[in-house]
Amino acid sequence: MLKFEHRLKHLSALNKYFWKYRKRFFIGIFFVVASNYFAVLAPQITGFVINQVQQRLPGARPMLSQPVHDRLVDWFINLIQSAHTSFGWLVALCSITILALAVIRGILMFFMRQTIIVMSRHIEYDQKNEVFQHYQKLDTNFYKTHSTGDLMNRMAEDISRVRMYTGPAVMYLINLITLIGFCVMNMLRKDVHLTLLVLAPLPILAITIYLVNSIINKKSEKIQSLLSDLTTNAQESFSGIRVIKSFVQEKAMLGFFQKNSEDYKKNAVGLAKVEAIYFPSMALMIGISTLVTILVGGLQALQDSSKVGLIVEFVIYINMLTFPVSAIGWTASMIQRAAASQKRLNEFLQTEPVIANPANALTATVSGDIIFDDISFTYPHTGIKALDHFNLSIKKGDKVLLLGRTGSGKSTIAQLLLRFYDPTEGSIRVGEHSLKKIDLHTLREQISYVQQDVFLFSDTVSDNISFGLAQAAMQDKIEQAASFASVHKEILGFSNGYNTMIGERGVTLSGGQKQRISIARALIKEPEIIVFDDCLSAVDAKTENEIISNLYRYLHDKTAIIITHRIFSSFNFDNIIVLENGEVAEQGTHEVLMANNGYYAELYRLQLTEEGREIG
Ligand code: ATP
Ligand code: MG
Repeated sequence: MLKFEHRLKHLSALNKYFWKYRKRFFIGIFFVVASNYFAVLAPQITGFVINQVQQRLPGARPMLSQPVHDRLVDWFINLIQSAHTSFGWLVALCSITILALAVIRGILMFFMRQTIIVMSRHIEYDQKNEVFQHYQKLDTNFYKTHSTGDLMNRMAEDISRVRMYTGPAVMYLINLITLIGFCVMNMLRKDVHLTLLVLAPLPILAITIYLVNSIINKKSEKIQSLLSDLTTNAQESFSGIRVIKSFVQEKAMLGFFQKNSEDYKKNAVGLAKVEAIYFPSMALMIGISTLVTILVGGLQALQDSSKVGLIVEFVIYINMLTFPVSAIGWTASMIQRAAASQKRLNEFLQTEPVIANPANALTATVSGDIIFDDISFTYPHTGIKALDHFNLSIKKGDKVLLLGRTGSGKSTIAQLLLRFYDPTEGSIRVGEHSLKKIDLHTLREQISYVQQDVFLFSDTVSDNISFGLAQAAMQDKIEQAASFASVHKEILGFSNGYNTMIGERGVTLSGGQKQRISIARALIKEPEIIVFDDCLSAVDAKTENEIISNLYRYLHDKTAIIITHRIFSSFNFDNIIVLENGEVAEQGTHEVLMANNGYYAELYRLQLTEEGREIG
């Protein structure tokens, strides 16, 4: 029990939402109470009618006591008795009233759902937004350590479980408390002794259902996680279908899938077995209560005939109690599960991004010299040291070429400049300011980073190019950016030109086309600093030259860092850096590096002979 209360604490994070929608919530509670009040009136009228009927039977025993009723029912009975109608009419009037009560109850229940369930949908919406907003705030490191499936689960599964608390669970809880309250109050008012006897089995029922439910939940949780494995498995097979087919691994994948699916089936069958106990145990308990009523009530009725109506009334009450008593069990487990989900959500919402905006962040335009001052960097979750006492100074407007073997730390430099990570040692300055003092938004707005692995959205070409802009871009600006990236002509060749859909539901672009569209997306921002991370690898030498010369022509006063594996000897780079194991191995202009006769010169000669072979 203590554990239960302890877990419930997590749900208190939701109180702010209940407060936000308090009007709806209180109106909802009113509807619940009112509908249950009307529900307990009908059995009393039935009891009254039964007594009236049996009084007219030949040889009827006398009524020794007058049954007690609710005030509203008393008023109604007085009303129809004072009308002195025929007996047939009396029965008919009572039936119509019972029907009317059922209708009133139905209407009130409709409004109860309309208020409380709708409130829970509003809360769900707010919560989804809150979680999504937090996702956007978290840094790259968080995404590296959590799988996409886990992240999606929080958005979908956890929030919908919490909604089961704010909606159905809260509604059932209020409903069952008031209904049980009204029923038991009415029963006690009529016959304390009989009430206690009849209600005795019901707590056992509530506890049984709670226990069975806990088992069911444990099993369904297991099933849920197996299902998630199964989906991940299927998803990977679909997106990696080309790899699977080209490596002829269809059979192996199928076997893997079948094994997962077998586990899932076994657990699902186990769950069905436990669920099968549920209803019989409920029916048994209700049956015992009914039996006690008839037995004890029947014995009493032998002396006092007014008890006949009472038996009928009690049997109806017991049936009315079936649902709320069994609901205690599953409402409790619903609340428990919601608490577990909310706990996960709370933990997540309390995760502060490591890379946060500084207090009094500078929002002035980011420009000027870039200085990497003795930077060392180790990736936090793998412990790989990517940069080792790396020093570099870049003047505003410089065009810098960054070369180096694969894994030498080139992309890491770009990531540090964008502050996806903070360096372990050393500091980076842009202009006069330390990177850590600059507002993150301003910083990233002023740097265009073309990533090594291109990512485009499933959207039109235009929307992909203008993605980084705050306002909708003019068409001619988009086209200009595309021309600078040497992709304009190809886009015009698509069936819908700039409005062509790309991605999963649209045309499939070639690797080079994707790269150049992502370059156009970077150029249209007109940034102060531009970083090309190996983004010319999939285009031919001629196009490559075209793009770089455009860069020189149109962005002559902007700083550009070009990361590559090739040498562009026709351009006069202000500085060429050769990186090796996270350190600067060589540095200088083309002439200096050629004279140096190191990695650069070797690469240059290799490239020349290759090009010579191509031409020859
Ligand atoms: P390439 O030319 O292949 O793109 P690179 O010079 O860009 O290589 P980096 O991506 O900077 O190399 O990687 C430098 C080192 O850091 C490598 O050893 C790599 O395994 C490691 N590394 C890169 N990214 C991560 C990451 N997100 N988490 C952990 N380690 C990483
Ligand atoms: Mg790289």
